[in-house]
Amino acid sequence: FPTIYHSFAEQAERQPDKALFELPDGRGITYRETVRTVQRIAARLTADGVTPGDRVAMQVEKSPEAIALYLATLQIGGVFLPLNTAYTGAEMDYFLRDARPRVLVCSPERLADHAHRAGTELVVETLGTAGDGTLLEGDGRLEQVHDVSADDPAAILYTSGTTGRSKGAVLSHGNLASNCRALLEAWEFTAEDRLIHALPIFHIHGLFVAANMTLAAGASMHYLPKFDAGAIIDLLPRATVLMGVPTFYTRLLRNERFTREACASMRLFVSGSAPLLASDHEAFEARTGHAILERYGMTETGMNTTNPYDGGPRKPGTVGKPLPGTEIRVVDGETGRELPDGEIGSIEVRGPNVFTGYWQLPEKTAAEFRADGFFITGDLGRVDEDGYLCIVGRDKDLVISGGYNIYPKEIEELLDAHPEVLESAVIGVPHPDFGETVVAVVVPAPGKQPRAEELLDFIAGDLARFKHPRAVRTVEALPRNVMGKVQKAELRKRYSDLFV
Ligand code: ATP
Ligand code: MG
Repeated sequence: FPTIYHSFAEQAERQPDKALFELPDGRGITYRETVRTVQRIAARLTADGVTPGDRVAMQVEKSPEAIALYLATLQIGGVFLPLNTAYTGAEMDYFLRDARPRVLVCSPERLADHAHRAGTELVVETLGTAGDGTLLEGDGRLEQVHDVSADDPAAILYTSGTTGRSKGAVLSHGNLASNCRALLEAWEFTAEDRLIHALPIFHIHGLFVAANMTLAAGASMHYLPKFDAGAIIDLLPRATVLMGVPTFYTRLLRNERFTREACASMRLFVSGSAPLLASDHEAFEARTGHAILERYGMTETGMNTTNPYDGGPRKPGTVGKPLPGTEIRVVDGETGRELPDGEIGSIEVRGPNVFTGYWQLPEKTAAEFRADGFFITGDLGRVDEDGYLCIVGRDKDLVISGGYNIYPKEIEELLDAHPEVLESAVIGVPHPDFGETVVAVVVPAPGKQPRAEELLDFIAGDLARFKHPRAVRTVEALPRNVMGKVQKAELRKRYSDLFV
């Protein structure tokens, strides 16, 4: 069974001298060099006592060696557990207590925070961004590859924590490999590609979409420590593909050097992890001639749907159709009955990409699966007349006011169309009569100060009375996490006592 590790090893044998990583300082790191680093780390982890099934946790800044650590963990049958670099004290306590890793790899600067954790159960190693750290010490070399089956766990990824406490999703080797193959095929991604990789590697997007595809295809990546519009624009002439979150694209559009000419060698721009506004999609196409390809996925399932690379339009405001092998249905959340196209309901997914369960949460896992194996995503959507899936929000963000369902996205789109509005977030807050009522949080366009009454007048004609926001609040920026996800839970908390 060919795992991601096997695909990488095969590419390394086929083209050892090809650069896998191209770094901002001009250095290239070949497949051959990467294999050496992987084998060195594999020996070190084994010496640390990692055996198949053991978790290897990592909280480090992005570096080529961090990818080597991921591959080394797969090589020895370990379970890779990358953690958001933003997590601190109490959060790290929670994740480490929950996942009980055998090894924690942290950055050298953070060693003081973690040294006390070391003991008979846990080894603490360090890994820096300059080829430094205890993990790279020692000159052992392990060539042996542990034999795994498709169902064996390869990684635990914690969800982003947008709707509540992060849950550990256990992903199998089969999940990762099958989803990677489906994406390579769907986006015609090959060894010829040169990807701009500016995403974090502790999240599914940067690790299991961007990095896995590069490794398995034998492609190369321009590997940036983080998003930097100027650096990306400089790289465009030497690249073919960019994978990003929507904020990448809105920020690139704000740079006047980002032009059609600058994008001449690019063949594909991919967006996901959060909704891309249809207006941004259109502005991007007008500027560059490229239609951004939007896809939809989540930690628990990898990628589920994609707009077409070929053979159909990439429709703004939609996330396209199921990937080969994946099934999607839209159902009535209460009854589980499948809904006709056009109706909004709960999105469910089944396929080889769907995870095996939440780490140590059997009841939660059982509650999120239907008897026939479909996973309840927690997202709401509908299928349009062309069979494309449109996401209208999350069921936890649904506002229920006086017994009526209100989908925030419908109101957000109307507000966003106002010339003095840059973007908006609509939330439900507690209300003594209605249970919940609608509040609109608005970010003005640069230099504008839209008045609440003016905005309400602007949208009133298109909305039933019960959907009208009862309050409008203006803010400088919406709270977002590093993946560009709007933190609606934070907004709900901020405005929770407006009416009670
Ligand atoms: P948590 O599950 O902890 O609340 P989260 O759902 O944000 O956090 P992720 O797994 O990182 O954690 O994100 C998956 C979610 O991101 C999806 O369920 C969906 O709501 C959203 N998402 C991903 N891609 C898109 C997209 N193209 N359009 C709209 N939403 C998207
Ligand atoms: Mg989620």
